[in-house]
Amino acid sequence: MSLPIVAIIGRPNVGKSTVVNRLAGGREAIVFDQPGVTRDRTYQPAFWQDREFMVVDTGGLVFDDDTEFLPYIREQALAALVEAAAAIFVVDGQTGPTEGDREIATWLRQQPVPVLLAVNKCESPDQGLVQSAQFWELGLGEPHPVSGIHGNGTGELLDALVAHLPPVDQLAATDEIRVAIAGRPNVGKSSLLNAFVGNNRAIVSPISGTTRDAIDTVVQRGDQVYRLIDTAGIRRKKNVDYGPEFFGINRAFKAIRRADVVLLVIDAVDGVTEQDQKLAGRIADDGRACVIVVNKWDAVEKDTYTIYDFDKQIAARLHFVDWAKRLYVSAMTGQRVPKIFDAVDAAVAQHRRRVTTSVVNEVLEEAVSWHTPPTTRQGRQGRIYYGTQVTAQPPSFALFVNSPSLIGENYRRYIERQFRQNLGFDGSPIRLLWRGKK
Ligand code: GDP
Ligand code: GDP
Repeated sequence: MSLPIVAIIGRPNVGKSTVVNRLAGGREAIVFDQPGVTRDRTYQPAFWQDREFMVVDTGGLVFDDDTEFLPYIREQALAALVEAAAAIFVVDGQTGPTEGDREIATWLRQQPVPVLLAVNKCESPDQGLVQSAQFWELGLGEPHPVSGIHGNGTGELLDALVAHLPPVDQLAATDEIRVAIAGRPNVGKSSLLNAFVGNNRAIVSPISGTTRDAIDTVVQRGDQVYRLIDTAGIRRKKNVDYGPEFFGINRAFKAIRRADVVLLVIDAVDGVTEQDQKLAGRIADDGRACVIVVNKWDAVEKDTYTIYDFDKQIAARLHFVDWAKRLYVSAMTGQRVPKIFDAVDAAVAQHRRRVTTSVVNEVLEEAVSWHTPPTTRQGRQGRIYYGTQVTAQPPSFALFVNSPSLIGENYRRYIERQFRQNLGFDGSPIRLLWRGKK
């Protein structure tokens, strides 16, 4: 399950780390045992009332002159904001608003994320109100006086925060697996859905999802619960409203975004089409696990080479998801349909998997000793210092290097292949984030 992320943003020394520790209630930050990694983003689990979320600190770097480093703070903040459900902008109540705060505020107002303003270092409640009132000028709404050190005001801040987090029923229950069934019209999505519901226990079907017409179906197989996303969109009679050519790609994109794993359904009779490629591209971009389901296998005339040829076609045309398992099934006869769930389980396990920093660095060391990054024409050489897994879902690795511009595309692909070969992650995309020294 992916928890909503709350990004903590602010100038150095305003007390961001102190506030984060307060919000997270002293729970330990995830991993990062390598020197230097503390400079990068750290994620800490936190909860308030019945809401759970992750707090990400955008770095406690200390600089002499903060305006000089605003571009860096902004870069860090932007990286954190991309994945955040809300942001807390921390300012220093004892100094009052600074030029740096105003710049960050102007920039934050343009970001598509709700922002809460926390005025830190307000130990005394009376004084706190006066101190925090100065920050109305930042144009970010009500300033919340808090003290990271003593804890006052954090309850009110958290109350205001959870109002911006997605409601609990939109989040997957702990072990639920969210599955999107994506594919062109007529590839057999509703036939597959019926097969799933027929073979397994449909607990509640249907359940209303996020919007009025997005209906999910929940099925159980053994102990595992699967939420099949937006099954109303699948069952809808396409010819009625839009004509047979209509392909609800945006609806499919929305379902992909909500899923842990996507079943990309291909019609064995038609082969891989351009629309299938679009969906595959989106699945990879969104970082979702994937299983390629080639349906209507019963309708294909087969000889010994048929599977081999089809495999080749998929490898060539769906290279965005070349890590996905391929299954040849028939929703009509039921052939290999139960295998789909085995593949889903395996892909999700890989999508959620974490490997230790020492294993990551073993792979890197080995890879670099076979091939060092090539020297540029100017005679400069890229150097990789170390790597660490920063998140799962999808597994993402920060690789710390002297300068990302010295690591070319070919070499990046080489390292990615080495990661795949040594670490697996079959069924899941992985991300490599190349980070330079500052
Ligand atoms: P960061 O660089 O924004 O992460 O800031 P830190 O959390 O490292 O705190 C910077 C300084 O401010 C430290 O000396 C803290 O002790 C101090 N500080 C943090 N929170 C408070 C607070 O609530 N009240 C006061 N008076 N000082 C604080
Ligand atoms: P959807 O538009 O993707 O939901 O596709 P449907 O499930 O409505 O199926 C479209 C057509 O393909 C229907 O006529 C189905 O009977 C047929 N179909 C679905 N699955 C199979 C299959 O495994 N084999 C064969 N031969 N036909 C299938």
